[in-house]
Amino acid sequence: MSESEFEFDDDTETSADNVVLRVDDLQKRFGGLVATDHATFEVERGTITGLIGPNGAGKSTIFNLISGFYDPDGGSVEVNGVDVTGAEPYQVADHGLIRTFQTPRKLEGMTVREAMLVGPRNQPGESFIKLFTSPGEVGEHESKSLADAQRILEEFELDHLATQPATDISGGQMKLVELARAMLAEPEVLLLDEPVAGVNPTLRKDLAEQIRRLNEQGTTFLLIEHDMEFVMDLADPVIVLDQGSVLMEGPPQRVQSDPRVIEAYLGGGT
Ligand code: ADP
Ligand code: MG
Repeated sequence: MSESEFEFDDDTETSADNVVLRVDDLQKRFGGLVATDHATFEVERGTITGLIGPNGAGKSTIFNLISGFYDPDGGSVEVNGVDVTGAEPYQVADHGLIRTFQTPRKLEGMTVREAMLVGPRNQPGESFIKLFTSPGEVGEHESKSLADAQRILEEFELDHLATQPATDISGGQMKLVELARAMLAEPEVLLLDEPVAGVNPTLRKDLAEQIRRLNEQGTTFLLIEHDMEFVMDLADPVIVLDQGSVLMEGPPQRVQSDPRVIEAYLGGGT
């Protein structure tokens, strides 16, 4: 191998290290509707990257494709340099990528602390059932998980809610619990789908502070948010999605004043 080839390899490795998520030429159709249309973008490690776009632009669909909830019709997804295209959500999670949902799940009959323990590393479903059907298996990890849950609730200043029924707290508090719960899995990259939708201004500020704190501690964020002030304040860069494709990407100031973005929003659902 020649010297120049060595250098080339080195460069490739360095740039791969900085990219925690790579979406390449991703495509998804629902019948005749093209929800994701050759979308390509990268998320750099350590950033809070915003993902915006008018209603129906395909933001949530991209999250579902990245996190393994939908299989793409084409293209690829890489997490930490590993191809996870078509992988199951728990496998994507094992590579360090976790997502939250636009609408937090219903957690009837559980306290906030119990809700924290539902499937820390995977998504609702299997582990939740296991909690009741195979208590022994869960038991091994129980005390560590409980201690972790308690520590994270404290870090989020939610410990006063730990023994409250999860259904009794406000929608805004639920969003904070959802973020706290996702952190139990110690993700490298966390995908948040509209974390402040329907959240009051005080809790909105809390959420922004928590996202900033976690980002400073090393978590990378990809953030879908309809609230422009919130996303422009937190995110850099911001990626704009329109009709399933990336319209542009740049620092918040540039994105906000770009005529193409303004036009996309005027022409879109909102
Ligand atoms: P956004 O999150 O940007 O508002 P979505 O990703 O939710 O957009 O939706 C993009 C498009 O795909 C919309 O036209 C929506 O109606 C459609 N869509 C999303 N999910 C499905 C689905 N499971 N089945 C059929 N159509 C869907
Ligand atoms: Mg959406």
